[in-house]
Amino acid sequence: MSVVGVDFGTLHSKIGVARKRGVDIIVNEVSNRATPSLVSFGPKQRSIGESAKTLETSNFRNTIGALKRLIGRSFNDPEVQEVEKKFLHVNLVDANGTVGVQVNYLGEQRVFTATQLVGAYLGKLRDIAAAELRTGVSDIVITVPGWFTDIQRRALLDAAQIANLNVLRLINETTAVALSWGITKSDLPEAENPRHVVFVDIGHSSMSVAVVAFSKGQLNVKATAFESRVGGRDIDYVLVRHFSEEFKTKYKIDVLSNPKATFRLAAGCDRVKKVLSANAEAPLNVESIVNDVDASSRLNREEFEELIAPILERIEAPIKQAIADSGLTLEQIDVVELIGGCTRIPAVRHRIQTAFGGKNLFTTLNQDEAAARGATFACAMLSPIFRVRDFSMHDLNPYSVKVQWERQPEDPDEDTELVVFPKGNIVPSTKVLTFYRKAAFDLEARYADTSELPGAINPWVAKFTAKDIPSTSSGDLTVVKVKTRLNLHGVLSFEQAYVEEVEEREESMQVDGEEQPKKKKVIKKKDVPFVWSNTQLDSSILEKYRQQEAEMHAADKLVFDTEDRKNALEEYIYDMRNKLDDRYAHYVQPQEKEKLRQALQEAEDWLYSEEGEDSTKSVYVARLDALRVLGDPISNRYRETEERSRVISQLRETI
Ligand code: ATP
Ligand code: MG
Repeated sequence: MSVVGVDFGTLHSKIGVARKRGVDIIVNEVSNRATPSLVSFGPKQRSIGESAKTLETSNFRNTIGALKRLIGRSFNDPEVQEVEKKFLHVNLVDANGTVGVQVNYLGEQRVFTATQLVGAYLGKLRDIAAAELRTGVSDIVITVPGWFTDIQRRALLDAAQIANLNVLRLINETTAVALSWGITKSDLPEAENPRHVVFVDIGHSSMSVAVVAFSKGQLNVKATAFESRVGGRDIDYVLVRHFSEEFKTKYKIDVLSNPKATFRLAAGCDRVKKVLSANAEAPLNVESIVNDVDASSRLNREEFEELIAPILERIEAPIKQAIADSGLTLEQIDVVELIGGCTRIPAVRHRIQTAFGGKNLFTTLNQDEAAARGATFACAMLSPIFRVRDFSMHDLNPYSVKVQWERQPEDPDEDTELVVFPKGNIVPSTKVLTFYRKAAFDLEARYADTSELPGAINPWVAKFTAKDIPSTSSGDLTVVKVKTRLNLHGVLSFEQAYVEEVEEREESMQVDGEEQPKKKKVIKKKDVPFVWSNTQLDSSILEKYRQQEAEMHAADKLVFDTEDRKNALEEYIYDMRNKLDDRYAHYVQPQEKEKLRQALQEAEDWLYSEEGEDSTKSVYVARLDALRVLGDPISNRYRETEERSRVISQLRETI
């Protein structure tokens, strides 16, 4: 069993693990603390995370980023068509009503849904955590933007299932950050007089603001606001356009018509952007951007800020909105904490500060890792493995959810809908709805105001059907109660349907020392059978995806292991050949040496032949074993002699 928290980012993700001594952010296979959110398909295998990053330019048509932005969306969503397409070079397609990609994988055209891609990516993060912890990983907490709707959250839950992960909680990013801020504080005030902290997170693709009240042992999110179209990628996009215009006249090249050149320029722009966070001016140098043209330019901070002015302008509104919704005045806000890569940009900070009327801004948290740490704490709190200080968290519902039904013929005045969980409702939360019915009935849950939702996301949330309504003895309508819940993940569920029956029970009681009979009313709940559905994948499709993922994962592993064994064979050949003339020279007979030499030569010739270049794992293993049969007696002889002389010299020292 393990405790793992993941901050699933647009650009990259961070993984935290809980151990006895605390929470650590772990490194991946190339020792980076952040793993690129990319999946790449190739002629022989898939590459995910770091290995996909190295293929981003050369295999741009089959390498997919912005996974977090695609999941839960439909192909026709204008936000996919007009926004995401700007940042992707892969062929987006419709896949069973959701957005998918068509890629060339193992020499074939294949379609994968965004949910499958995220499943593959989460599988990679699982493997990284498993390698660090040296155990299987199942329980996990994953961050989501607070603006994610039911369908996006459910798609992510599906993706986690595809990767065989058990999500204990989907946690809003800023709530995870708030948890990592609060859980380590020992001086939090009493509940009547909480400390108010505003967290502002601007990452690669979106901005979140959360006003949070902290007191001893608890945090309450008071208000949240978002701008899902402000982030580092928007800044990069503006810079790429700026320099590509400049290069049209300067070098007579059209960078944007060439995806590889665009990638090279984007990498250069990312550097310019970061250098400008600490310097007044930055050089841009892109070697062989196209046809051996080395492109170069410069940008100063003023020019930069002018270019990104339209982005900067969108920063104040969500901050003001969140403060207004919280009902707090600026004076009542104790601390403003910044997180996310883009809050390192001075102009961004300046805008944030202006929105807070000049308040001091703090960066006491690790800007890049606070969300992953918080997610890991949240996982530890929900897991039985560790005893964590109890910290209660109340989150908020970002969009109003209503339930609709058909009007009863018996009741022409009946309403046909009700906002069950208004925007700002506490999460998690349970509500009981009351209906007067004679026959089976349906309910449908959906978002009340589609204009608030991101893009043209499907506002439908769930459908509920109550069957077999028990009739009343009087022939009146039956009072049916329906329990619905916004759960820890922030998704809606229908939990129970029941009727309440009043039973009169005879009980005896003592009055003046005498037993007297007394009637007592007892309310008993009787379940009403019901079914309900949501946007999550059908279990048969989910199972199919899970199997496909397991097969692709096994195939990737085989390719990796094969390459590993091939390298081991190659290394043995070179290593042994060197040692035969050097370290092992005194321990080998001429005949023996000649025989091994020949075998090494033969193996080398084979390795570089067409057959040896692309063989199977078992053949590489067998070849290496065959060489070892000849080589091991020599290396053993050497080792034994060495050991003997080491013991002798130790003995001499002790005498
Ligand atoms: P999101 O939260 O939007 O899903 P993310 O969590 O992957 O995305 P972060 O890691 O918070 O994003 O931020 C990454 C962005 O911050 C990138 O665009 C990166 O270029 C930018 N960034 C990082 N450091 C700096 C810096 N010093 N100056 C300017 N920008 C920076
Ligand atoms: Mg982030």
